[in-house]
Amino acid sequence: MNYLDRLNSAQLDAVTTTEGPVRVIAGAGTGKTRALTARFCYLADMLGIAPSAVLCVTFTNKAAAEMKLRIRRMLGDFDLGYICTFHSFCVRLLKEDIHVMNFPANFVILDEDDRDELLLKVYADMQLTLKDMPLRTAAEYIARRKNDVDRYIPYFLEFDNEDMLRRGIRNADRLEEIFMRFIYEQKKNYACDFDDIINFTAYILEKHPAILSKWQTRMQYVMVDEFQDVSPRQYHIARMISGAHGNLFIVGDPDQTIYSWRGADVRLLLDFDSLYPSAQTIVLDENYRSTPQILGIANTLIAHNSCRYPKNLVPVSPDGLRPMMYHARSERDEAAWVVRAIRKLTESGVAPGDIAILYRAHFVSRSLEEELMRKEVPHRIYSGTPFYGRQEIKDVICYLRMLVSADDIAFRRTVNNPTRGIGRKRMAFIADAAAESGCSLYEALCANLDDPLLARTGARAYVEAIETARAMVGTVSLGDLMQKLLDMSGYEESLRTQAQWERLDNLAELKRAIEEAGHDDDETLDRFIARTALVTNSDRDSDEGAAVRLMTVHTAKGMEFPYVFVCGLDEGIFPSRRSASPEAIEEERRLAYVAFTRACKGLFLTDAEGFNHDRSGKTPSRFIYEAGTEAMDFPRPLPPQQPLAPLPADASPRDARFRSGDTVAHPVFGYGLVIEVDEAIGAYVIQFQKLPTARTLRFAAPLTSIDSEKWQD
Ligand code: ATP
Ligand code: MG
Repeated sequence: MNYLDRLNSAQLDAVTTTEGPVRVIAGAGTGKTRALTARFCYLADMLGIAPSAVLCVTFTNKAAAEMKLRIRRMLGDFDLGYICTFHSFCVRLLKEDIHVMNFPANFVILDEDDRDELLLKVYADMQLTLKDMPLRTAAEYIARRKNDVDRYIPYFLEFDNEDMLRRGIRNADRLEEIFMRFIYEQKKNYACDFDDIINFTAYILEKHPAILSKWQTRMQYVMVDEFQDVSPRQYHIARMISGAHGNLFIVGDPDQTIYSWRGADVRLLLDFDSLYPSAQTIVLDENYRSTPQILGIANTLIAHNSCRYPKNLVPVSPDGLRPMMYHARSERDEAAWVVRAIRKLTESGVAPGDIAILYRAHFVSRSLEEELMRKEVPHRIYSGTPFYGRQEIKDVICYLRMLVSADDIAFRRTVNNPTRGIGRKRMAFIADAAAESGCSLYEALCANLDDPLLARTGARAYVEAIETARAMVGTVSLGDLMQKLLDMSGYEESLRTQAQWERLDNLAELKRAIEEAGHDDDETLDRFIARTALVTNSDRDSDEGAAVRLMTVHTAKGMEFPYVFVCGLDEGIFPSRRSASPEAIEEERRLAYVAFTRACKGLFLTDAEGFNHDRSGKTPSRFIYEAGTEAMDFPRPLPPQQPLAPLPADASPRDARFRSGDTVAHPVFGYGLVIEVDEAIGAYVIQFQKLPTARTLRFAAPLTSIDSEKWQD
């Protein structure tokens, strides 16, 4: 069994301990993901478990795809349907069971773009402008409001949407009215945003024992990679699903928690054994990825964090070169040095795809990219903008959505794109007609095609294109279907007449994706659309090997590269100036630890002299000094560390984020209940489960929101 041969004894333990709760805690590069993959093979191959009975949760779609590839290589073709992210798993579940929330299986998934579109509709209804309130403020309120699951999901269960809205906006302040109208629009379109996907799933499992039991029976083994960044609610779902068989296997590294801002809570990993007293804990401490020199500075750096689970990480790889730190004269000099070093590597035979450039924030990539272009080094940016979020891709997906859900959001996006003479006035007419008869915009359009107002527009051609294509669903391949729609709607033609070559290239890429998906037998149009909503650019990788990869450290999570450049290591950039509190600095330090530990053979760090946007002088990141300058080489001398500026007083939240009755988690005190909010001194009074007496904590304290059932647990 070659997948077992290549494991050490601790990994073997993790692989063969298949029953009951198991936790693997281990540092970067110790073979956690490899053990998880081998465990899947072992279950399927040695124990004969049906692969479809194993839920294996990864952090990104890309990680899932990679894991499937490896497993297929070892085992051959199997249905590996449940190797996926939490979000994709929840979408699978909702496709089967969302009917209990009165939603159809072809519900719409709102990405950020769609959400903004829907919000703009709400703004229009309320006669608000972006000056009155930025979209972001509204979106943040909605997200925050949805944290309180029990106070919002019931809205979705009410039958009479109009009545719900009427009651909901009575006496509501402006934000709450936006929220209620947003929910109203969501219900009208049968639309879920990313938060709902998780919340609905948890809710359905909680409230519908028969559904819970179906999924519990089906998923006999549950495994979660990168557990340190799982949110409490995702954990709750994993616990429920594994509730019957009790086989929950989690792997994680507390030192790599980098999503606290999204609700990740390292306590979940550390307290696993108190929730599961029978849990077995397996520790891996041999690092196979990095040279001792690279690991040395990563270990020295992370030792500066006070809130951690002490671990010992021993390098297995042979000695390599010392990490090199270049203190550049300017950003230009920094970029030039990086590109020179890359060329030296490639000239010595290193493939460009074996090199990655990582940074804390996207803007750092600009000067690097310019220089790479100037020197004609093949490279590729893994940007944060989702591929499927690009305008032209989104347009076509919305056209496809017209065939499946024909929701109002997709309608608004497509009906006058390309121009069909349906501007604001005619849109208002359609909207009025829809409101009057309580139907969707598309239905209203179809019913009024003979109205004189629509006579000389392209409305009829639009409806014909959609109806013709819809009649073809299921009879032709997905690729042909899409092509038909592109032709009949005139969309592709309009890009061509505008000479939008890049957009056309992207469409070609989408066609390839949909054709590839079409090879999978059970891929329907409906499922393809659901999947696209969850895919980001960093998930897609066609030309690996050929190009240097540029990405943020967050994106690089779980990956490894022979040679890594970490650029923009300046105070204020990395750590980010927005992370001023001691806890936030610890998170930045973990992020730097993640960055350094991506490297196998060579690690290069850079910063640049010059000025920040606020005209203050730039200084090298504290992380360079903390990582131990004696263990690095410096082509140009590094200035001595400047005293760090005191934390700006206003960097911490001045407003209460929690109300009394909320349940919260604290990295040291654990779970607690807010019993009082004292606005006068800007503090909460919190009763922690583990502490005999209540504590008073500043609003800025490192608290995260948790589900209330945690508190009872
Ligand atoms: P991270 O914390 O970054 O997610 P990880 O713990 O998941 O890291 P892996 O990515 O699984 O680590 O493994 C790191 C590298 O070490 C990979 O290249 C993997 O193939 C290799 N590796 C893992 N286990 C062994 C082993 N027993 N023998 C040889 N190489 C190994
Ligand atoms: Mg891993």
